[in-house]
Amino acid sequence: MKILITGAAGFIGSHLVDRMLADGHEVTAMDNLVTGTMNNISQHLSNTKFQFIHHNVSNHIHIVGHLDWVIHFASPASPVDYLNLPIETLKVNSLGTHNTLGLALSKGAKYFLASTSEVYGDPEQHPQQESYWGNVNPVGPRGVYDESKRFAEAITMAYHKKHDLDTRMIRIFNCYGPRLRANDGRVVSNFIDQALRGKPLTIYGGGEQTRSFQYVSDLVEGIVRLTGVKFHEPVNLGNPQERTVLELAELIKELTGSKSEIVYKPLPTDDPKRRLPDITRAKQLLDWTPRVEIRDGLSQTIAWYKEQLAVAK
Ligand code: UDP
Repeated sequence: MKILITGAAGFIGSHLVDRMLADGHEVTAMDNLVTGTMNNISQHLSNTKFQFIHHNVSNHIHIVGHLDWVIHFASPASPVDYLNLPIETLKVNSLGTHNTLGLALSKGAKYFLASTSEVYGDPEQHPQQESYWGNVNPVGPRGVYDESKRFAEAITMAYHKKHDLDTRMIRIFNCYGPRLRANDGRVVSNFIDQALRGKPLTIYGGGEQTRSFQYVSDLVEGIVRLTGVKFHEPVNLGNPQERTVLELAELIKELTGSKSEIVYKPLPTDDPKRRLPDITRAKQLLDWTPRVEIRDGLSQTIAWYKEQLAVAK
């Protein structure tokens, strides 16, 4: 198949590129490199089944030839990134989603939207099922991401209903693995980077807030499986093991053997207190469940960070 992946130079996008090429597909990778990097995909530049287009999908997209899938993963996704890039974030998830939907429609391609657990905001239902509508502050700092992803879901569903576009959408819960940028501000990347550099691990708030962490290969497997099933409602993809941020800090200290101390910083505004996916739908629909244990996934990720540090020296 011929597949367009937007956000292809980003963390998840680039792992998806690897997988789609490994599965024998032709991939057109699109990215404006605002948060992604060519380092994530440059290994494919000599592959004749791969091409890279440097483009901001918030502007009109022109692709020559046929496409079977448009897979829309472009967006800043870390709280630090979307706080720094609020307008770009709103645009890529609204205008960018509109443009990619229009492209899919004009090519007769199927469409895949990367949405997020952030559509649940600071959830009042626990764990979060896809039927939960969420608890989002539209004008809070996270609103730029949360609301634009909610719009992206709405317009994707509208294209499905109005134009009969064959769509999929996933809500991605916290994901980690190699290529998660050291400076992207997320908890796994911050803690590993801090632990390896012997700097204090910064816990925001008291560390009792919870998340669950899925390894990137598990997420990619879920994505691939969903392309093979005709289903248009959102599907949660995440790890169903809940842990506190303090537990994560202690685990990363143990796995890195770091002597870093743990320090406490103010909790950011609207930081969700608990987040945990209900993955019943993904289990039933896709026979999918995350396979990678957190210790293994973190060890792989730590090894990658060590390599990066060695290269930088
Ligand atoms: N967090 C933290 N220290 C950090 C970075 C993040 O304690 O250095 C916390 C953050 O406040 C949140 C959780 O870790 O409660 C997950 O944050 P992340 O930015 O990874 O993603 P989120 O799930 O909030 O979108």
